[in-house]
Amino acid sequence: MIKKILIANRGEIAVRILRACKDLGIQTVAVHSTADAEAMCVRLADESVCIGPPAPRESYLNIPAIISAACITGADAIHPGFGFLSENATFAHMVEEHGLMFVGPKADHIAMMGDKIMAKKTITKLGLPTVPGSGGAVTSADKALRAAAEIGYPLLVKAAGGGGGRGMKVARSKTEFAEAYETAKREAAIAFGNDRVYLEKYLEKPRHIEFQIIADKYGNAVHLGERDCSLQRRNQKIWEEAPSVVLNPEFRDEFGRKIAQSMSQLGYVGVGTLEFLYEDGQLFFIEMNTRIQVEHPITEMITGVDIIREQILVADGQKLSIRQDDISFRGHAIECRINAENYKTFIPSAGTISNYHCPGGPGIRVDSALYDGCKIPPYYDSLIAKLIVHANDRQQCLARLRRALREYVIDGVDTLMPLHIELADNINVVNADFDIHFLEKLYNTL
Ligand code: ADP
Repeated sequence: MIKKILIANRGEIAVRILRACKDLGIQTVAVHSTADAEAMCVRLADESVCIGPPAPRESYLNIPAIISAACITGADAIHPGFGFLSENATFAHMVEEHGLMFVGPKADHIAMMGDKIMAKKTITKLGLPTVPGSGGAVTSADKALRAAAEIGYPLLVKAAGGGGGRGMKVARSKTEFAEAYETAKREAAIAFGNDRVYLEKYLEKPRHIEFQIIADKYGNAVHLGERDCSLQRRNQKIWEEAPSVVLNPEFRDEFGRKIAQSMSQLGYVGVGTLEFLYEDGQLFFIEMNTRIQVEHPITEMITGVDIIREQILVADGQKLSIRQDDISFRGHAIECRINAENYKTFIPSAGTISNYHCPGGPGIRVDSALYDGCKIPPYYDSLIAKLIVHANDRQQCLARLRRALREYVIDGVDTLMPLHIELADNINVVNADFDIHFLEKLYNTL
């Protein structure tokens, strides 16, 4: 059994992982940059190690510093959280080379799904539907143009190494195509160090629907249903719900089991999320995330499964403690991402929290690392808290959410709270009538 875990992350997810470790009786080591010396995770962990200066590449992305911290403190496993090194196959491999456990899938699976072209090929082979496209990399402008003519417009030029909503260019017609192709290639080379691109049909009004899975090394795999993450800005999610109003229980069960079976066939071990776009009653795979996701708590709320606990246990080589037939879905959950950003311009906001009051009462969960007087440094992702609300049905959930948003006080930095208040009252949101472009359009009217 794992006795001590080093948490190679920061902010709310580091605290979330630490809580799962404490519940399991596992010792914790926090790592932090000099900017995060006072962070909540550092205060709560059994031990902590400073791994470098504020810049992520010198601290949270500094592989030698993190592995050394694990060796020095006698940790037997490293949990990468999300972002940073969580989908870095080289890191996962190096962790194991040093005799430590990586709380995540095998390095080969991380590499396979990290390359979006390979991921789509693999998923197609497993018999799941994918968004129609070039089926592989387009290697020259000529070939790309021919493939584009076959797929039809509008289409997306996507980077094989893309992530975080970056590395995508829309071409609405043949005249726009050459520029979209060249720009996508150039930007991908700079941002991801990999200029391979592929083409995909651009769906005009899809919803983003993703399935959570967990698998152990004995071939057992289960799905925990779906999340609807259609409310996005700049292709990044800011509000997520479970379940989605567009899937019925029979469809969920059948499709979910098919996914779980595919993951078992692949020999995948750990937690993962398969992301799909949903249009006209059909789901089309776009990518797989081989790590815990920001929005995992809404699934925890409707299933009662502690996903990070299960993730740690399967990484430790234990059998999944849950079977598909044991999993049922209860009520509705919504998560609002509280980013430290101006809610109109999305410009990040750093500073010191001068007043903090957390909402409470039935059905409310807050995952954050905030406290009165804590600092929000300017160097990292702007997500500072997640407000998660659960109730018996969607309308009750929205009512609780409105209450909780008005109770929540975070002074000292700009946050997305005013936007969430607006969304919770918006008639289309109330009717769950939205697609991935809803928020962009709403913004034009704000
Ligand atoms: P990333 O890894 O950067 O998150 P994804 O492939 O998951 O990239 O896509 C992120 C978002 O971009 C999706 O949730 C969706 O909003 C939009 N998107 C991706 N592919 C398509 C597509 N083929 N048509 C329309 N929108 C898309």
